[in-house]
Amino acid sequence: MIDIKTLQERWADGPLAPWAELLAEQVEAGLSVLRHGDIPRWRTALESLPNITVNEVLLDAAEVGVSVASTPDAATAESLEAALRGLSPWRKGPYALFGLAIDTEWHSDWKWERLTQHIDSLNDRRVLDVGCGNGYHCWRMRGAGAREVIGIDPSPLFVIQFAAIQHYIQDPAVSVLPIGIEKLPPNLHAFDTVFSMGVLYHRRSPMEHLQTLRDSLRSGGQLVLETLVIEGDERQCLVPQGRYARMGNVWFIPSSAMLILWLAKLGWKNPRVVDESVTTTQEQRPTDWMSFQSLKNFLDPNDASLTLEGYPAPRRAVVIAEAP
Ligand code: SAH
Repeated sequence: MIDIKTLQERWADGPLAPWAELLAEQVEAGLSVLRHGDIPRWRTALESLPNITVNEVLLDAAEVGVSVASTPDAATAESLEAALRGLSPWRKGPYALFGLAIDTEWHSDWKWERLTQHIDSLNDRRVLDVGCGNGYHCWRMRGAGAREVIGIDPSPLFVIQFAAIQHYIQDPAVSVLPIGIEKLPPNLHAFDTVFSMGVLYHRRSPMEHLQTLRDSLRSGGQLVLETLVIEGDERQCLVPQGRYARMGNVWFIPSSAMLILWLAKLGWKNPRVVDESVTTTQEQRPTDWMSFQSLKNFLDPNDASLTLEGYPAPRRAVVIAEAP
């Protein structure tokens, strides 16, 4: 499912050599049935994807993002859809495969639009996407010219969803690996750009997270950080007691001014906020491919500026900085 050998060969003589040595074991552990009882079912769905000839791959399309176009016959189209629905819920996207639209919970393309004009060109860069989900943005990064994109995410389902898309796109420059950031070998100084989007508030030690990201970059490499923030000055930080918007694992939601101080304290160069916006129920909503509750259900029905728990509703910042 993951072409470890190609990565090992590619990484053997460069700064990723220490990671190459750990890879086989990490991938095996990350996809072991011990991680999730549904893994065999998801693997079966993946294996049942029909073979279809690919005519066209679009990785930089404004709306669909990842599209693979040709015209399969009705029976093939049906088995394609059945296999992909077997990998539900689909949270990040949207994707379009052979005319089949995977309408995901998130309009991840909108996040991409908010940040893309602010970041250094990805042309010929080696990129790391930490907490990449099913790899939607990894494809967009490749579409923006990256030479190599490595996504990491501990969720086996998302890694298998990526493998389903990769089954058709067949691009060895893009990989998604089933590991969390804590498994990343320290001090790689290997990447030209590192993305961490939607992850920082899930970390119990945000400073450590920011430090690990720093040490994965070469000097002068760029961080693209996207996370929840609250309104307020550099002294404000929300530490939700219990849940936040129904999520149980939310630790710190700083103001963007405080976030800048965190980055500066760790030696990041020129940390700056390039976007701040409130998440809308158009951007995150239930769909045919993700039928559980979504943002609308997590907000106070009488006051959409608050979560169900009475905290400020989700607002997200994109922050950019360079590694020292
Ligand atoms: N980056 C994507 C997905 C964000 S959702 C986007 O912005 O759209 C947050 C992701 O972080 C989830 O896919 C989750 O599995 C992943 N995650 C959780 N803990 C993590 C960890 N320790 N290291 C890396 N990723 C983690």
